[in-house]
Amino acid sequence: MAQQDDVFKKIVSHCKEYGFVFPSSDIYDGLGAVYDYGQNGVELKNNIKQYWWQSMVLLHENIVGIDAAIFMHPTTWKASGHVDAFNDPLIDNRDSKKRYRADVLIEDQLAKYDDKIQKELEKARKRFGDAFDEEQFRATNARVLEHQQKRDALHERFAKAMNANDLEELRQIILDEEIVCPISGTRNWTEVRQFNLMFKTEVGSTADGASTIFLRPETAQGIFVNYLNVQKTGRMKLPFGIAQIGKAFRNEIVARQFIFRMREFEQMEMQFFVKPGTELEWFSKWKQTRMAWHQALGFGAENYRFHDHDKLAHYANAATDIEFHMPFGFKEVEGIHSRTNFDLTQHAKYSGKKIEYFDPETNESYTPYVIETSIGVDRMFLSVMCHSYCEEQLPNGESRVVLKLPAALAPVKLAVFPLTKKDGMPEKAQEIIKDLRFHFNCKYEEKDQIGKRYRRMDAIGCPYCVTVDQQTMEDNTVTLRDRDTMEQRRVNIADLRGIIEDNVSITSLLRRIDN
Ligand code: ATP
Repeated sequence: MAQQDDVFKKIVSHCKEYGFVFPSSDIYDGLGAVYDYGQNGVELKNNIKQYWWQSMVLLHENIVGIDAAIFMHPTTWKASGHVDAFNDPLIDNRDSKKRYRADVLIEDQLAKYDDKIQKELEKARKRFGDAFDEEQFRATNARVLEHQQKRDALHERFAKAMNANDLEELRQIILDEEIVCPISGTRNWTEVRQFNLMFKTEVGSTADGASTIFLRPETAQGIFVNYLNVQKTGRMKLPFGIAQIGKAFRNEIVARQFIFRMREFEQMEMQFFVKPGTELEWFSKWKQTRMAWHQALGFGAENYRFHDHDKLAHYANAATDIEFHMPFGFKEVEGIHSRTNFDLTQHAKYSGKKIEYFDPETNESYTPYVIETSIGVDRMFLSVMCHSYCEEQLPNGESRVVLKLPAALAPVKLAVFPLTKKDGMPEKAQEIIKDLRFHFNCKYEEKDQIGKRYRRMDAIGCPYCVTVDQQTMEDNTVTLRDRDTMEQRRVNIADLRGIIEDNVSITSLLRRIDN
């Protein structure tokens, strides 16, 4: 664990040192759980967004995009249930004065039982070698059975308390499990209280009678209130989807783990409108489609899992998370929810407008059901960073830090270096960039020795480097160096585009999922 913490700290400082992520308002010592993306971060983030957008809007004829405003009519949030129910249960430790989410404390406790079971399994695996039978060991080993039984009991109690919104029971679980505050180490806990996560602000001057509005805590409602607009103007037929990328705001109580939990973040959401009764089939289709999208990045299937929800939100009839193996455990990156017709029905009720679909096949009108896929851009960014960060020992005794980013997501695709600053080499290098910059992001570097320049490019995950040398001036060939293998080969300048473009394009990723 300590080792994993160290890795995570290194990733956070790497993000700052190489222009990926800075604390917000850094010169004023930052603002809690708010971050800015730097020159490389913004490119990586844009590439992630493009990969998502194109996978939705280009690859699906029946999905279109919108860009709704962050400010919405305040009744939106009454109708959606956020004013009354968008709460987190929080608890304070009286000694450290630190505030926690009660549900997260209990989830961490569940993860501890899982860890204990994993440790027993690992020990046994080492002891028995190839003869190890995990299923049998789980069914018979006394220690594993004991941990599993405690975990299951806790899990059942927790799910029941959450579903019943029973705050006293949540507190009692924390006491019974002897959960201590990680800072003070004590069990001196306050009551559990509900805390609404929406930020408020005002529109209009006070003299005019200002009204209180909220910063949207999810982008989904912008889609629901535009359902009729899009369906009618786009003459959309069920099933169809509306996709959107945009900022969302939540006054998170416990801001930690860098850009994993932010107060201002970005979501990529798609609401898929379907005929009632077909929603669970679509739910299962979207689960597979979204998992394929993640796995096309090549981070290994073992680093993802589904986590079905125990507590279904009041509007949902099925929900799952796609979790990714971060350095601090498996964590949610994306939620897939079957939201029934709750939102559209609520908006119809509160707005007085009829929000329905006329089905030309059956000649009936009904309120569509909705499957939602909702992924955080920032969490996705973090998972990409965590998986790509790599410290390597090289055969010559040196070491390097390399970001093994999927080439299509890398901020810079090609770096071009003149070997020296003379004999026309800088001009030749600039010429190459001038030609290729229309096709992908290129960077010119002439400072320091080539070795150092390679290291700098490795650190930002640039997949290809090209060096212009004396021979280039004679025969128009350059050395092309691969980031991961560090192999260099001599290629003709005229062939560069053909070799690089296909590997670094978003299309190369899209092809992997479009089958
Ligand atoms: P959590 O349980 O971690 O608070 P959630 O279940 O409330 O997340 P959703 O409301 O389902 O999250 O939001 C969909 C996605 O938006 C999440 O999977 C996550 O990627 C992202 N997201 C939600 N809250 C935050 C946040 N505070 N900071 C960054 N990303 C977030």
